[in-house]
Parts: sequence; C-alpha cells; structure tokens
Amino acid sequence: MVYRELGNTGKKVSIIGHGCENLDRKPYSQVEATVKTALDNGINIFEMFMPGKQIREDVAKALGDRRKDVFIQGHICSTDINQQYDISRDFETSKKYFEDCLRIFGGYLDFGMIFFVDSDKDFNAIFDNGIVEYMQKRKELGDIGHIGFSSHNPLVATKMIKTGIPELMMFSINLAFDLCPPDTYALGELGSDFNKVDFRGINPERAELYKLCERMGVGITVMKPLGAGKLLSTDHTPFSKPMTDIQCIHYALSRPAVASALVGCQTPEEIISSVKYLTASDKEKDYTFFLDDMENDFMGHCVYCNHCQPCPVEIDIAAVNSYLDIAKLNEADIPPSIISHYSELSVGGSACVSCGSCESRCPFGVPIIENMAEAARIFE
Ligand code: SF4
Ligand code: SF4
Repeated sequence: MVYRELGNTGKKVSIIGHGCENLDRKPYSQVEATVKTALDNGINIFEMFMPGKQIREDVAKALGDRRKDVFIQGHICSTDINQQYDISRDFETSKKYFEDCLRIFGGYLDFGMIFFVDSDKDFNAIFDNGIVEYMQKRKELGDIGHIGFSSHNPLVATKMIKTGIPELMMFSINLAFDLCPPDTYALGELGSDFNKVDFRGINPERAELYKLCERMGVGITVMKPLGAGKLLSTDHTPFSKPMTDIQCIHYALSRPAVASALVGCQTPEEIISSVKYLTASDKEKDYTFFLDDMENDFMGHCVYCNHCQPCPVEIDIAAVNSYLDIAKLNEADIPPSIISHYSELSVGGSACVSCGSCESRCPFGVPIIENMAEAARIFE
C-alpha cells in the first residue's frame, strides 16, 4: 500500500480507502471477510456515513482490535429515521446518531464529518443549528481528531473550505463529474444527466476547489471515484467506452489535494481488484483516451496524467505543473506547504534541458518547457 498525507492533519492514509456503504444490509460473514481483506491489504481509512446501527456495529466488530490501526470517517447529520438513508439538520437528532457512531467505534472518531453540505441551505443550517459548534467542542474534548465535511457541490464546498474550519473534505470526484457544471446534480443520474452535458472541459469551479484545498492544506478523500460503478458499465458510461477501475482511481488520485480514493467494495474480490491499482502499469492507468475522445478545451492545460513521462532528467512534470498552477493563482501569496512540496521534489524545473520529448508525448499541448522555466523562476 502507498500512504499519503491527508492535508495538514498529520495523518497518513492509504491511497485506496474503503467506502463501507455497499456492505450495508449484507450478512456479517461478508462484512467481516471484506473488512479483513481491506486490512490485510494495508487499507487504513474506512468511510462510515451510514446511519444504520447494524452496519456500524458489524464494521466495528470486524475491525476488532485493529480499530486502533485505522482511521474512521464518521458523520453527523446522517440519519435513518424512516429506515432509509436520510439527512437531518435538527441538532438533537443529529447529535443522537453521531454519538451512537462515536460509541460504536470506541468513543473516538478520527475524522468527524458533517454530512452532505451541498446547498446554501445546508451551509446555513449547520451553522445556525449549532452543528459546527458541537463538532468543534467534540474536537476540543478529544472525541474527534479532525473536522471534515462531505459535499458534491463545488461552490458550496468552496464556501465551506473558506471558513477555515474543515481539515478534510470528502468530495465526489471522477472524470465524468469533473466535466459537469456545479449545478448539474449528477449523483445517481450519471447516464441521463450526461446527455445534457456539454463536454467542453474540466469544470473550472471543480478544478479551483481542488487547488484551493491544496493551498489551504485541506486533504480530500474521494467518494464515487467509479461513478457508483456507472463509469465501468457499457450501458451507463457517458464516454464511448467504459473506463476501468484502475483508470478511475488514477484520475481521482491525480487531482490536487487528494489523499485517498474511497472505493465502495462489497466483497473481498472487489478489494483485491481495487488494490491492483498499486501494481498497475502506466499504460493501464492512462485515462487520456477519455479526454481525447470528446470535443474539449483541455489544450494547453495540464491534467496531471503523466503521459509525458519519462523525462531524461527525471523531472516529475505533473507535480511541477500542479504546484505551478497553484502558485500562479496568487504569486504574491504562495502557501508555504506548496513551496515545501516543491522543494521536496528530487529534481526541479530548472533541470529541464529542453529536449522536448515530453511535449511530443503530451496529448494536451501543454508548454512543458516553458512551464519548467516558470516553475524554476517562481520556486527556485
Ligand atoms: S504535461 Fe501533458 S502529459 Fe504531462 S501530465 Fe500534464 S497534461 Fe499530462
Ligand atoms: S523538455 Fe525538459 S521536462 Fe521535458 S522531458 Fe525534456 S528535460 Fe524533461
């Protein structure tokens, strides 16, 4: 397994995480086998938004003594009052479900998440109803390690990040969603909604959100990296062919600030399939076909796909480009974390010998030589 820093939390999470949703209402033997396979493969982050008592207890039981070795994302405002997944912004109701989650996972949640902050109404309610304040108190008491939130809407998520309160965000990221404008509610409707989407490029509000997170040291965990499986399906893909799980995971992991792609596996076999990402070749990870496949305005913009490698002087071109993109948002105020990430690169942009081999491989016409010089000017 490979582990990444989750923003500034000081926690290192596995790049493949386990979204436990699809284990809900499954027999305990299946929950146990899947959780144990995840643990045995080095997965150390488990997403637990589900409000049901049974699934929470089953996952906690399957973790057993190994609870201390993993990070749990537990949510407030996720309820199942009518025996179905539901959202409540009522303080007492939200508190009751959250405290149940705390208790089941040993009185401590590594990541205390505020559930589904997707609209201005959600945003106002969590502040007005005392939910944010409650989570801050729980953190002060040491009952939760870090405050996070989940969202599918880049504009509301941006507003939330700018409060400076969240230390992590769970956001729905995959190539299909990233092509949607913020107000396109693609969740669960990928196939039909995509008929209405004009494929003109990565949505700028989404791209800016990821960069903002990187700038502010807010780590991202990714939900729906496979588009609820629809991106893998011939019938539901919005593209001319299905993506593979490896391509989807790679896309999510190559966005700025992303630390972990939470894959909703429901069997040990699905866990094994997702961790195959770790040994996949660059060719297997390559998702650029899907960008080439559509009319787009990706030209000139780095999508961090690594198609330009190898570089004879071993510059990590995608990383240099991603730090450069963030720095150029405001050159006068480059976040120290970005300067530090750049300085940790074994080779900087100044090492570029202008051989041009990368530019001939880049499908998006990125002016890489120019970018390397620009990065050297800014960072070195
Ligand atoms: S420079 Fe081009 S090939 Fe290289 S990571 Fe960026 S988009 Fe991909
Ligand atoms: S042009 Fe520069 S960055 Fe590109 S492959 Fe050559 S040395 Fe590496």
